[in-house]
Amino acid sequence: MRILIVGAGIAGLTLAFWLEKDGHDCVVIEKAPDIRTQGYMIDFGGTGWDVADRMGLIGEMQRKQQPITEIQYKDASGATTAQLSLATFYKAANVEGKFMVINRRDIVQVLYEAVREKVKIRFGTALRSICQSDTGVTAAFEDGTGETFDALIGADGIHSTVRRLSFGEESRFAAQLGYRFSVFQIPRLAYDLGQTYQMYVEPGVQVGLYPYSADEWLVFVVQQSAEEAVPPQNERARTLREQLPKDRWIIGDIAAKLTDDTHVFMDTITQIELPQWANNRVALIGDAAYCPSLVSGQGASMAMAGAYFLAQELNRTDIHRAFRNYENRLRSHIGKIQKSARDFAPNFVPRSRFRIRAINWVLRMAKLPLVSQVIGKQVVLESIIDTV
Ligand SMILES: Cc1cc2nc3c(=O)[nH]c(=O)nc-3n(C[C@H](O)[C@H](O)[C@H](O)COP(=O)(O)OP(=O)(O)OC[C@H]3O[C@@H](n4cnc5c(N)ncnc54)[C@H](O)[C@@H]3O)c2cc1C
Repeated sequence: MRILIVGAGIAGLTLAFWLEKDGHDCVVIEKAPDIRTQGYMIDFGGTGWDVADRMGLIGEMQRKQQPITEIQYKDASGATTAQLSLATFYKAANVEGKFMVINRRDIVQVLYEAVREKVKIRFGTALRSICQSDTGVTAAFEDGTGETFDALIGADGIHSTVRRLSFGEESRFAAQLGYRFSVFQIPRLAYDLGQTYQMYVEPGVQVGLYPYSADEWLVFVVQQSAEEAVPPQNERARTLREQLPKDRWIIGDIAAKLTDDTHVFMDTITQIELPQWANNRVALIGDAAYCPSLVSGQGASMAMAGAYFLAQELNRTDIHRAFRNYENRLRSHIGKIQKSARDFAPNFVPRSRFRIRAINWVLRMAKLPLVSQVIGKQVVLESIIDTV
């Protein structure tokens, strides 16, 4: 089959890998001029781990994993109020030995290296329109050219153009979880982070940091927000400088490093829920179809799972049945992950000091087997690779 994949992110590159292996003729288009290596840290395990393992890439990913061993909670003075060892968390969630912390850019890089010699990837190419018939789907590109394929797969992320063109406006499918996040890099400060992810939380805002390279840190801010849009790039650094609690911990020093030309990746924390993931010869995978949000910690894993199941089905049967089977296999699991993230969302950044104290208490008790079991049950991390 001749298949167009829109988006060279985690889902798109994984799908390209499997389709090429199965002998399909696939083309990937990516609107960015190169693979997007935007940085942030990803918790990676479960089904995604097993898919990467079957691709023969898990060793390479493990070599690039971040050596973070602990999460530390700080108070306004910088004292540690609670700490959670990742080893304890992995044990509680029953994922010991099959879970890693890795930057998104490194996952994408590993996937890209695995396909770049085999698959046609057209960078700097964006989709303009889609026209379907009984026999094919024609994609028109922004450069004025067009081509016809047997199927078109939208792997173009949470703000998917394929979804807008084939299913409807984003607002119909987007459910806001009440927050916005910001991610940006700063030069490292004279403060030893060691191998920890450190964060400060107060009602409505969370500021976290971890070492990103020898001389850079990555800062992750989550703010309570009912807004459905975020400020434009040129206003983000200033907005954050104004809003961050600069008299707490080392947040003033962080804000001072956030200059107007710092690139800030900012978005709302949103889930995507569609009544169906395929429309005739067009299907969606990854965040475009079922973004579980960063609260779930499973978007990357599910992007790879969707790509894997869809490729398996396209190898077994015709396009329409393949699309149906892929969705039937994955939908209820995605539903579980999305619900779990929605239920946890109010605690992601607690709204009261009482809740913050309660969470700190639970984390301090996390070494106790009963408490760690309760924490472990909050995350849906089992692999479904052989069970659906
Ligand atoms: C701050 C943050 C923290 C996260 N933490 C975790 C975590 O701990 N664990 C986890 O599993 N997940 C996490 N996620 C989620 C995870 O990053 C996503 O779920 C995952 O990247 C989705 O993969 P995707 O391939 O569907 O989309 P993306 O990775 O967004 O890739 C989409 C690609 O499509 C391209 N594209 C977009 N539009 C077009 C177009 N019109 N034409 C051509 N190309 C286009 C984009 O440039 C991009 O390359 C986090 C996300 C964020 C933002």
